[in-house]
Amino acid sequence: MKCSTFASFSNILIIKFTIVMLVLKNKQEVTDFIQSLKYKGLTIGFVPTMGALHSGHLSLIKKSIEDNQYTICSIFVNPTQFNNLMDLEKYPRTEDSDIEKLNAVGCDAVYLPKIEDIYPKGTEIDPIDLKGLNSVMEGASRPGHFEGVATVVKRLFLQTQPTNAYFGEKDFQQLQVIKQMVKDLNLSINIIGIPIKREENGLAMSSRNIRLSQDYINKSTILYKSLIQAKELVKYHNPKEIIKIIKKIFNNSDLKLEYFNIADEESLLTPEEFLQGTHYRAFIAAYAGDVRLIDNLRIL
Ligand code: AMP
Repeated sequence: MKCSTFASFSNILIIKFTIVMLVLKNKQEVTDFIQSLKYKGLTIGFVPTMGALHSGHLSLIKKSIEDNQYTICSIFVNPTQFNNLMDLEKYPRTEDSDIEKLNAVGCDAVYLPKIEDIYPKGTEIDPIDLKGLNSVMEGASRPGHFEGVATVVKRLFLQTQPTNAYFGEKDFQQLQVIKQMVKDLNLSINIIGIPIKREENGLAMSSRNIRLSQDYINKSTILYKSLIQAKELVKYHNPKEIIKIIKKIFNNSDLKLEYFNIADEESLLTPEEFLQGTHYRAFIAAYAGDVRLIDNLRIL
């Protein structure tokens, strides 16, 4: 879909005289546009992001383009999911190059909401029952984080009304939280998880990697290496033993470990023993200087 009849001329990105991607700049524009897509009965794929786009984000967009008649990406740095003001301020913002990248992969529209389009009454949080998935790991380290995520994603869902929405396994806990939110609110949206894209050295791609020095890029490979090691240790050790072994590795590292955990993929709880027929993941968060990195891997 590259048709421009839905929006005014100023919303259309023009590169070398070819009409390509629609740029929706506020709630009214997105609402009108979605109505016209719904009227035509088109399937809508939605990819919410905070920008500073890399190949990991683009893999979600590509899958959405494959699955849907129309793909919309949103770029919005959501203040309510940051519990650290410095982190919010330092979050990279690269809107022009993001738009170019989205256009290059064939995304149909980008939605760039302003703060008042998402939070018209101030940055309040919506009550959503996340069934405790919000209180472990990232939720424990960043109080209020998932409440902010669930609120912004709910509001973006209501505005974009997608058939399918795409989330990266890079933020596996977030993926589970969103699935729970959709259940709690009884929304008819399919939530689709996409595998983690990594650099050649194993480092999970992240918008925050822009802020790493070359030295820290090299040292940060310890995250993925420790996940791989955890996967090997599954043969001979129970979850608690593995956690202890991996934590020790970080004593001699330049990265500061925040948590290393092993959890059931569904409940996100740490088991005493591994059970046959259940999937488990190892989860890690660590600081490389002042840059916070997370990663995870299915280990069983
Ligand atoms: P963010 O802009 O960080 O909020 O990410 C937007 C979406 O892209 C989320 O669903 C992330 O999980 C996903 N994502 C970010 N990095 C990666 C990656 N390396 N591989 C796959 N998906 C990713």
